[in-house]
Amino acid sequence: MVGRWIVIGCLLLSAAPAKAWDNFGHMEAAVSTLELPKEFKALVVLAGGAVVLAAILTVCRADAGIGYVIPAFFISGFLADAFTGLAHFCFDYVFPESIPIFGPIAREFREHHEYPTLDPSNYIENLTKGAYASLPTTALTVWAAYELPVGAVSFVVVATLLGMSLWALLFHQIHSYAHMGSILPPEELHARVVEIRRLESHSEKVREFAKLFEAVPIPPVVRFLQRYRLILNPSTHNLHHVLFESDFSSVNGWSDPVLNFVLRPIARRRKAAMEMETRAKS
Ligand SMILES: [Zn+2]
Ligand SMILES: [Zn+2]
Repeated sequence: MVGRWIVIGCLLLSAAPAKAWDNFGHMEAAVSTLELPKEFKALVVLAGGAVVLAAILTVCRADAGIGYVIPAFFISGFLADAFTGLAHFCFDYVFPESIPIFGPIAREFREHHEYPTLDPSNYIENLTKGAYASLPTTALTVWAAYELPVGAVSFVVVATLLGMSLWALLFHQIHSYAHMGSILPPEELHARVVEIRRLESHSEKVREFAKLFEAVPIPPVVRFLQRYRLILNPSTHNLHHVLFESDFSSVNGWSDPVLNFVLRPIARRRKAAMEMETRAKS
């Protein structure tokens, strides 16, 4: 019963338009533009608490063996990564900036190409973005933990949903560690990107980005996770910032080889069409 109310609460909060949230006195700027608030501490706390609750419920169902969390970890990592990649592609090339809620997010994604200033010290802003993505998935996890029959397969399903909720909560914080905006200013990154763009091979590009980020003081634990590709590696992610046609994912890059195959040709066509539109308007 409690779980159902949590599911309903999470869904309402994550689905409510910014205009409605203004009634709570938090987001004056959101009213006129139907833009989600950039920072929403209470939502971050709620999303974090919901993930903890979902984790407790998931562990309570581990009758089939806690070892099943291992496949769930990898499946959830791949699916969450693919989801961020597809969403990023849509915000770069599909959603018009004029539509409510998604439009301002699309504008932010396109501005991120010009000014890649993301910084991990902006915890609340980074985790607020994560909370929007995480809450619906956490609600689904809680529902699945209550409703699915007990068994190995359903445990993997629940644990996978839980993993996706956690990856979703952290995705923008992870993305910001691949930029370190306050230490690596956009002008410096752009200058290196221009040089790296001229390199012939993919491996040379990756190597040069790796060299650039070796000199940046990334916390050792994060550096370890990046190096072993457990979270997004700056060298991989910044390949996206060369031409904005590939490497769209923001969690760990596991889905990039598949998504690049599908999305790169579409991104090229969309980019050319959008450039023609801009030229025609000016
Ligand atoms: Zn992009
Ligand atoms: Zn980026």
